[in-house]
Amino acid sequence: MNKNDLIVVLTGAGISAESGIKTFRDYDGLWENHRVEDVATPEAFDRDPVMVWRFYKERYFQSLDVLPNAGHYALVDLEKHFGDNFLLITQNVDGLHERAGSKRVLEMHGKLLTCFCVGCKANYKMNEVDLNPEIPTCPACGKFLRPDIVWFGEMPYFLEEIYQALKKVSVFISIGTSGHVYPASYFIAMAKQNKAKTIGVNFERPENNIFIEEFHQGKAGELLPELVKEWIGDL
Ligand code: NAD
Repeated sequence: MNKNDLIVVLTGAGISAESGIKTFRDYDGLWENHRVEDVATPEAFDRDPVMVWRFYKERYFQSLDVLPNAGHYALVDLEKHFGDNFLLITQNVDGLHERAGSKRVLEMHGKLLTCFCVGCKANYKMNEVDLNPEIPTCPACGKFLRPDIVWFGEMPYFLEEIYQALKKVSVFISIGTSGHVYPASYFIAMAKQNKAKTIGVNFERPENNIFIEEFHQGKAGELLPELVKEWIGDL
């Protein structure tokens, strides 16, 4: 890869699997034994905010308990090499890329570390609010807070920035994502349409496999350290 190439990386739950966070599709499309419709839709929150909050409090505390793995750190090295010609888009909400040291990262599905008020929209770090009530409330206006997660049916964050990058990308690398969740599953097709080289790193062939030119099958934490050395010409 040339240092002037724009490298765009898309990660999904698979890159955090070796940190101990279950992927989404580990158990027949369940997320930690919950159906997505029950915990990851605005309708679920309207219907049962106590249950939805219980789920995300567990995910939040779990994310604080785990550590980034070799896959996350390899992407930090890739970013150090390419600098402003690097963009990391993640579907993950666990904050592990930032904790590993990634700087140019767009968390398109939100993050477990923050929440916001359904009334005044004020945004808070989870550790700034009282999480003891079953449904935490806004310190400013008293309305319900909700997790800062983009649920199914909601608009992902940073889409404009992402689409701009996909117009200019030279190499698109998809890691640890099943290719099921739209629109992220479609980014690789857009990159390919714009003549980018496409690379996949995944435990199994993903749903959008037909758009991948070069596929590396295995665990991200095991494969990425060597692959990144290869990509930056350091082998
Ligand atoms: P997914 O669970 O649908 O797919 C994960 C993919 O990673 C699978 O194809 C699996 O074969 C692969 N995989 C598993 N272990 C791997 C490893 N060690 N190395 C490489 N690949 C591995 O995940 P998705 O496509 O990201 O979609 C899930 C959605 O659920 C996302 O939108 C995300 O917001 C949310 N989610 C996030 C987390 C997290 O933040 N860690 C965890 C679960 C779900």
